[in-house]
Amino acid sequence: MTEVEDPHPKRGELLIDITKASVNPIDYYTITSLKVSPLPHIPGTEFTGTVSQLGEEVKGFSEGDRVAIYTRFFDGRCDMCIKGREMLCRNGGRIGVDTDGGFAEKIAVNSLQAFKFDGPEEIAASLPVAALTAYHALKEAEVKLGTIVVVLGASGNTGMFATQLARKMGATVIAVSRKSWPKELGANEVVDYSEAEKVVREVTDGKMADVVINSLGAGFWDSGMNLLGVDSKLVTFGTLTGHEVKLDLSKLYSKHVKLIGTNRGSLREFSELVEICRDCKVRVWKEFELEEGADAVRSVLSRERDGRVLINVS
Ligand SMILES: [Zn+2]
Repeated sequence: MTEVEDPHPKRGELLIDITKASVNPIDYYTITSLKVSPLPHIPGTEFTGTVSQLGEEVKGFSEGDRVAIYTRFFDGRCDMCIKGREMLCRNGGRIGVDTDGGFAEKIAVNSLQAFKFDGPEEIAASLPVAALTAYHALKEAEVKLGTIVVVLGASGNTGMFATQLARKMGATVIAVSRKSWPKELGANEVVDYSEAEKVVREVTDGKMADVVINSLGAGFWDSGMNLLGVDSKLVTFGTLTGHEVKLDLSKLYSKHVKLIGTNRGSLREFSELVEICRDCKVRVWKEFELEEGADAVRSVLSRERDGRVLINVS
């Protein structure tokens, strides 16, 4: 850990004392392969904390407020922002990749990105990436009451939220995982990969899934495609198992399948999550101290990982 000067909140910003951060694969790639700014760089795309200072003209917050933070910055003025797609802002970016992030004691953020949140810290530290990515994917797939949703990788960072948020949205959820604990997240069925096709067929009376969430990438592409029914949607937003796939176009069009790529979520969706995800469950695998940040980041790609990796900051 390196000592750096404390940030100062500029006009419209809040200074946050970070209390807890979560580790995602993107933090690993931030350190190893992504183009980042500034250098030297503080990673950390997912974190929560307490307001410790208000910049000029900030309204609606007080010192000591606990906040959940939308960890993408955006200009609020471009065509994407105007239509509520802040994550695609033409002049935006990712806190922790394109700016210094939250594996630190303090950070200054635009107050527009902060939402008061008094739920558990491990939830606040899971909303910006894990929960938001999952929620946005489900919204893009128009999941509603009665939708049959299959979540591949249901015990992963986004998978655990896709499972429970789809249930909250009224879906029937078939969680595909090598673990059994996604049952505790409310999944209607939890099945291993080898059983997935059979169980989805049984549960749906042969109709197969309306929506498949593939956060894992190429390694699970074919199994995901095989689970889709007619007029269905496959949503993908991760490439941990590879990013190049073969696609049978005749299956795609004959079943009228929509392929949807998603990337995090909007500010509005984040504000919705702050309400609907207060009682979400977070499976924690390991907690590290800030001084052990490098070990924490390395551990996120461990094959033994079974739940989230968190960093305690204070
Ligand atoms: Zn914009």
